Amino acid sequence: MSRIRKTDSAPELLARQILHKLGYRFRLYRKNLPGCPDIVLPKHKKIIFVHGCWWHRHNCHLGQRTPKSRTKYWLPKLAANKKRDKENRRKLLKLGWKILVVWECQIKKPEKLINKISKFLKR
Ligand SMILES: [Zn+2]
Repeated sequence: MSRIRKTDSAPELLARQILHKLGYRFRLYRKNLPGCPDIVLPKHKKIIFVHGCWWHRHNCHLGQRTPKSRTKYWLPKLAANKKRDKENRRKLLKLGWKILVVWECQIKKPEKLINKISKFLKR
């Protein structure tokens, strides 16, 4: 398993492009917020997480794939990721943030993703 880069993944770049097109201003990686969210729109009190399906255990086929090697190492680690995501979302909601999670697999349908993001921001 190769290392997963934390910044500037293709899904993140696409999400940012969409926001630009829609005319929203945002900030990246607010370290002072739980989970260090990928994209933050402070004015709207909204947060967008861009999650890799495998890494964050999305319930799509990518996310449910079992690691081929070192399963004993990966499975607890992935389970912990999922748990941490949930806790971070709960903390952020408590702080009054609205949250949208964009999944890696959703970038295959950009039109749908644009819709999803624009709906979320207009809410
Ligand atoms: Zn997925």
